[in-house]
Amino acid sequence: MQLSSRLQLFNEPETLKMAKLGRELRTKGLDIIDLSLGEPDFDTPGHIKKAAIKAIEDNWSHYPPVAGYPDLREAICGKFKRDNQLEYKPENIVVSTGAKQSLANAVLSIVDKGDEVIIPTPYWVTYSEIVKLGEGVPKFINTTVQDGYKISAKQLEEHITHKTRLFIFSSPCNPTGAVYTHEELKALVEIFEKHPDIFIISDEIYEYINFTSAAQHHSIAQFDSIRNRVVVINGLSKGFAMTGYRLGYLAADIPVSKACEKMQGQFTSGANAVTQRAAITALTSDLRPTYEMVQEFRRRREKMIEMIFNIPGIKCTVPDGAFYLFPEVKEYFGKKNSEENIQNADDLCMYLLNAAHVSTVTGSAFGDPECIRISFANNMKKIEEGMRRISEALGRLS
Ligand code: PLP
Repeated sequence: MQLSSRLQLFNEPETLKMAKLGRELRTKGLDIIDLSLGEPDFDTPGHIKKAAIKAIEDNWSHYPPVAGYPDLREAICGKFKRDNQLEYKPENIVVSTGAKQSLANAVLSIVDKGDEVIIPTPYWVTYSEIVKLGEGVPKFINTTVQDGYKISAKQLEEHITHKTRLFIFSSPCNPTGAVYTHEELKALVEIFEKHPDIFIISDEIYEYINFTSAAQHHSIAQFDSIRNRVVVINGLSKGFAMTGYRLGYLAADIPVSKACEKMQGQFTSGANAVTQRAAITALTSDLRPTYEMVQEFRRRREKMIEMIFNIPGIKCTVPDGAFYLFPEVKEYFGKKNSEENIQNADDLCMYLLNAAHVSTVTGSAFGDPECIRISFANNMKKIEEGMRRISEALGRLS
């Protein structure tokens, strides 16, 4: 059977593969602790669930407008004004089936065959793959634990060529938790000002999960000089514990938002109607449930940091946002025991799964083969036990 050559352009998400492997072992009766999770382990807040139920009862069951209901797009503009001091009009907004689709719409609308797309590593798994699907060429800027996993203006400038069309990044970052400050963004903006043909996709889906002292999120769209080239991507999955609802959105200059709407018109005809009604409630209500969830993430982060810093040979930044640690584990490469011979982060993750029964994700999935991602989107008991098992299993390697 002949399938399209397009399928060879990209890979399936490694994060989903790991979750699947963990599930398979669990069905065999093994006590697997899942620290690979990329979603909040919290229930969607009650008032949002009620809004979804009411939407079903009120028969929100017809095709919605492709770009989203007008009142939801108004609510999203209100959110941008309330949280980011950004002025958008509903025509700037396109609502999609998750931020992942917003990203796909934007990349496929901007990138042509052969265009270069700059992506700082480590990056969220989908960035490189969606660029490849769009026949663009990902160009990576490497960052490390030493530079806090953030690029400098100098690095950005060095990677720009006449073929550069787009820059994609997330702040807070999945997988590293790095959060760019206003000053750091300003330095990047000064480079973009010199290159007026480059678009910027700013993925801000972890906006609320921010542990910096002022808990302040900065968006690169706040800089007027480049704002017409910035596509802000956000969604309800992380901040409102609504991954399964599948609701993302983007804000962009009108030619880009119209292009994304056109793209979406052929792919999905728009996001789920019931979810869109629930999203209005989420975005216009008090954010207390979100802040309570973040408070709990903060407690778990502290515990995880305390435990990881007690493991010899591991280097780790303290994440300023999102819900992951991204330790550098290369000290363990070349070590072995009777169960495993560790050559790289993939081997280490498989070892932790098989020997410690803890699932994590290899850094190679995020473009950094010297690290692994450990999620704290699991309860404190599991985190403590999971980290204890990791420490013990690593201690058995020499
Ligand atoms: N962007 C980042 C950085 C993510 O980590 C994720 C999900 O893991 C997404 C976007 C996609 O979110 P959604 O569930 O809205 O598609």
